[in-house]
Amino acid sequence: MKKTTPTIAAERQYVIEKEKFVPVSAYFGEDTFNHKMMKEKLPKDTFRKLMEAINEDKTLDAETANIVAHAMKEWALEKGATHFAHWFQPMTGITAEKHDAFADPCGPGAVIERFSGKQLVQGEPDASSFPSGGIRATFEARGYTAWDMSSPAFIKRNGISTTLCIPTVFISYTGQVLDKKTPLLRSIRALNNSAVNMLKLLGAKNVTKVHANLGPEQEYFLIDMDYYYKRQDLVLGGRTVVGAPPAKGQELEDQYFGSIKERISSYMHDVEEELFKLGIPAKTRHNEVAPSQYEIAPVYEEANIAVDHNQLVMDTLKYVARKHRLAALLHEKPFAKINGSGKHVNWSLSDNHDNNLLNPGRTPEDSIQFLVFLIATVRAVYKHADILRAAVASYGNDHRLGANEAPPAIISVFLGEQLTQILSNIEKGTVNKATKEEIIDLGIASLPQVSKDNTDRNRTSPFAFTGNKFEFRAVGSSQNIASPALVINTMVAESLDELAEKIKAKGTKNINQAVFEVLKNEIKYIKPILFNGDNYTKEWEAEAKRRGLPNEKTTPSALKALITDKALKLFEKYEVLSNVELKSRYLIHVERYIKDLEIEVNCLNTMCMTQILPAALDYQKKLAKAIVDTKDVLGSAAVVSPQMEILKKILDLINNIYTTNKDIQAKVEAAGALHDEPKKAEMLGAKVKPKMDELREYVDALENLVDDETWPLPKFWEMLFIC
Ligand code: ADP
Ligand code: MG
Repeated sequence: MKKTTPTIAAERQYVIEKEKFVPVSAYFGEDTFNHKMMKEKLPKDTFRKLMEAINEDKTLDAETANIVAHAMKEWALEKGATHFAHWFQPMTGITAEKHDAFADPCGPGAVIERFSGKQLVQGEPDASSFPSGGIRATFEARGYTAWDMSSPAFIKRNGISTTLCIPTVFISYTGQVLDKKTPLLRSIRALNNSAVNMLKLLGAKNVTKVHANLGPEQEYFLIDMDYYYKRQDLVLGGRTVVGAPPAKGQELEDQYFGSIKERISSYMHDVEEELFKLGIPAKTRHNEVAPSQYEIAPVYEEANIAVDHNQLVMDTLKYVARKHRLAALLHEKPFAKINGSGKHVNWSLSDNHDNNLLNPGRTPEDSIQFLVFLIATVRAVYKHADILRAAVASYGNDHRLGANEAPPAIISVFLGEQLTQILSNIEKGTVNKATKEEIIDLGIASLPQVSKDNTDRNRTSPFAFTGNKFEFRAVGSSQNIASPALVINTMVAESLDELAEKIKAKGTKNINQAVFEVLKNEIKYIKPILFNGDNYTKEWEAEAKRRGLPNEKTTPSALKALITDKALKLFEKYEVLSNVELKSRYLIHVERYIKDLEIEVNCLNTMCMTQILPAALDYQKKLAKAIVDTKDVLGSAAVVSPQMEILKKILDLINNIYTTNKDIQAKVEAAGALHDEPKKAEMLGAKVKPKMDELREYVDALENLVDDETWPLPKFWEMLFIC
């Protein structure tokens, strides 16, 4: 393969012409129709009605919707928008948008820019080509999109085209959920109800609302676009299905937090500029562990907004990369034997006074409240560890979870020594009246602010308490974070309700005493899920088994947790997903697993047959000819045994590649004959995946034998180090 040299790569560098420096504060959010803009552009009364509708979860009356739509259109036209689109999050995992022009015919040969309240509030896209898990037949394929007023509309620029995007939910004609957003919003509502009830029970005053916050840390790879387009596995499946490890990988630990290359810095700058315009508070950026791997972490936001923003971050990473002649890879494991990419999702709860409910308290009352929410969360994770695992199950993430760089498939909770000690005091302590003295005795009168240093040392835990939030680390880098978030929200809502019932059952005369009595039992109950040790060890796997914790290593088996009675009841009770909706989601995920795997099988097949084997056969021919020619010239004096050895090795590898590939095709066909999707997924995972790994080993061995000039694919060392 013709090499791209670093000089060529540098020459191609996208040049940013900065005329003058503009502080971010001067343009932050300028491409969003946010509160500030609404206040500025809307009549006072309309603004008030809109805010009421947003805050109280009400629908907007037609007249108000018309006024808002008009103001939004005027604003969008000023920004250069020609079209508007309902922007939604179907089950494909990415976002969807259908553009309509503002321009509308009005009389012969004339148009006028129009945008009505109805067009703002509701859309009717054809839903037949989105995954629905059999929820509805094609003849009733119409879907509805409805404006999610809690998330601001924004301007999306793409080349010279500019579109007003309206965040919406997406439901079927019959009212069933077809997207990731609707159940998230429902889970936010459920959690709000349960958390406010709990706070009231604990005696908190003036708390009317509680919301979840999410702070996603997005990891990604960047490689030169030239290499990217020469690899159909990367273009079509997002992951290299073959490729020998480079002579140097990440063993020198010289990438993590290393100084950022100029080309990458410029790229990051451009990405952030786009994000700032969209009102996304991009904060942290750095080199990650693997070569060519990076991270971007915006400041946490309310769950609903954070989900939309993370989708936009992923889109922007890809979009800006193209401008820089780079490709952003969001796959969980683009390169085998090199660290993969995850997305730590930081989760916490705030009330309407901006108090973080997971902040250890300064007063005994605060401390009690903190302990209740902390234990309720841990308890929820323990009770529904299987569902939480299912929420991050995907074909891509299977390559990463448990690969000694990411948490294992076993869900456990890390609390750190300090909190573990406090819980153990409560468990052992005798609380009679929960007086101040007793609370002091338990060591929680004023909880020490748990410093990040104390809680953040264990990076191997899938669900770690890190000072004032939980960090869920098993999420895959390409995933929509709505899925794990809605599971956490719903299960914590249930846990809070169950704890509230138990507290009430003890009598609410001395509420603190009742709380402690309940917590004491709960601490005993949740013990098996608590683990402060190294999650990457074999010993933990054995220990977790003894504790009865689930350890589902593959997506087909992990997903089953979505359709247990326990899961169906949980999501139905909190009106997050009906049984039909949840079952359909299960099927969508199973089907997706099958499709992802089959796409890779097809890539592997074409790459082997049309690129790898032809290159190897050429080299085989060359070697054979060299041997014959040498013997011709030198006669019996020719020592050609080394050449013969190489030739033999190549011959064997070619044969192994051909037969293993054939075997894979046969196994896929056999799985295809099963008319049961979950069984098919299991069979593909169990029978085909190991064969794909085996095939890869032959190809990678061949890569290290065949003439570098004729090898048809960019190699790992080039993709990961030339940029
Ligand atoms: P690290 O890599 O050390 O874990 P980062 O700074 O990369 O930390 O990311 C931490 C993430 O957690 C950020 O997105 C941050 O905004 C978020 N975060 C901080 N406090 C909270 C909180 N109370 N609730 C939710 N997320 C939070
Ligand atoms: Mg980070």
